[in-house]
Amino acid sequence: MDSKTRLRKLAEAATIRIESNIPIRRYFRSGNEILKMAKVYDDEGNMEAAYVLYLKYVSLFLEGIKEHKDYAMVLPAEKKKTNQTLKLVLAISEEMKNKLRKRFDEEYEVWLVEEEQRNKRLEQERQRQLEEHKKREAEAKERAALIEKDRQLAIWTQAQIDKGLDPDQPPPSSPLPPSSCHVPPHPQSLPPPSYDELVSDYPNSGSIASAPYRDDPPSYPSVDSLADFTNNLRGHLPDLQTDNVPAGSYQPPPSFDRSVKPMPSGSGSSHGHSNVPFIPDRSSKPVFGHDLGNRPVIVPTKLISRFLELARPNSDRDIETLGMLGGKLSKNKFTVTHLLIPKQTGQSDRCDLQGHEDLGEAYDSEDIILVGWIHTHPAYDVFLSSVDMHNQYEYQNMLNEFVAIVCSIKFNETGYLTLTETGMEDIGKCTQENFHPHSKNPPLFGPAQHVITDDSLNIKVMDLR
Ligand SMILES: [Zn+2]
Ligand SMILES: [Zn+2]
Repeated sequence: MDSKTRLRKLAEAATIRIESNIPIRRYFRSGNEILKMAKVYDDEGNMEAAYVLYLKYVSLFLEGIKEHKDYAMVLPAEKKKTNQTLKLVLAISEEMKNKLRKRFDEEYEVWLVEEEQRNKRLEQERQRQLEEHKKREAEAKERAALIEKDRQLAIWTQAQIDKGLDPDQPPPSSPLPPSSCHVPPHPQSLPPPSYDELVSDYPNSGSIASAPYRDDPPSYPSVDSLADFTNNLRGHLPDLQTDNVPAGSYQPPPSFDRSVKPMPSGSGSSHGHSNVPFIPDRSSKPVFGHDLGNRPVIVPTKLISRFLELARPNSDRDIETLGMLGGKLSKNKFTVTHLLIPKQTGQSDRCDLQGHEDLGEAYDSEDIILVGWIHTHPAYDVFLSSVDMHNQYEYQNMLNEFVAIVCSIKFNETGYLTLTETGMEDIGKCTQENFHPHSKNPPLFGPAQHVITDDSLNIKVMDLR
């Protein structure tokens, strides 16, 4: 791919679609997190991933956000601040674009040279195979000619014997056994040729092999049919059976082009839940988010016990508790480092977040990225209710790895969940609020396969209530 195409593909990956049913503050929050992630990738030397994220920010705040129905309600101070950041991001992304173009151009040059060498090698191999085939064909022809010569000599000899005209040959009572000559059994339906006929065909017995065929079909009695002849010939030419290629229709065997890699089978799914943690190919593609599968999210197991302790007063009263999970991005992995308990209003079947501003400040002061949430189900099992799924959708739409942890107090179970691809589609289209039914088949949520639990890690708890 040339640099122009590659840059265009990166820009395509950075397009954000604004949905007005997602609260506008979620987009502003997401903007901050995009910048944090971009900085991590830039520091780690993954300029492509950083560039895509900066472009995402530009896509979000240069145009996209203005289409949101609540844009007019955003405070002027917030808009001003965002515009200043946008200018900075535009400058950074322009600089990155130039660097990437230069690098892509260089890589393309190298690729072109290598491609030329690959093609040269392929062409040489094709030529070699062609030569080899020609050689084999010539050898087969030579063998066939020898056999034909032998056959014609046998026919002539047999005729001599039959007529009793050649004193040098054995008497007619002991004909040559069929196995010693290459002649099919003598057909009884045809009269044997006369000596005159044979002589007129071959006036000079010394030059039988070189006697040309006449235009008429040969009248030799022993040539029963072409099939017989072919079978006979094959019996003596085992090579021809394995190399049964008609002249003129030779095609070289298909050669495997290593320059074209097959697509990995799971790569088409943007919200898929592979059992194998996604390992991106950094050589050719930007690494992040929706298009390439989920980056792992490492969750300290201590998080669960700490959270359940904090939730116990609510749980004992059959009230749900909610926590938000902050984490760090490093080497293409998220690690949950913070449990934040925000101001909230809990009930027996739902829990609503209050105090967004406090949370936002905490994310920024702790320099963490929001990577998930956790809540209790005091009286139910582990699942995502319709309200839960709509909450999850808003976050997962911004960060595909966003994980929902549900702790069932009643069944003493914990689940790490995420919306499936169908879930993202269905909830994205659903305009209902509060509790309402959704289709269940195929399932809208499932286990988050990209979550890895870790017993050794600690967690910082911030109770903001
Ligand atoms: Zn729930
Ligand atoms: Zn719904």
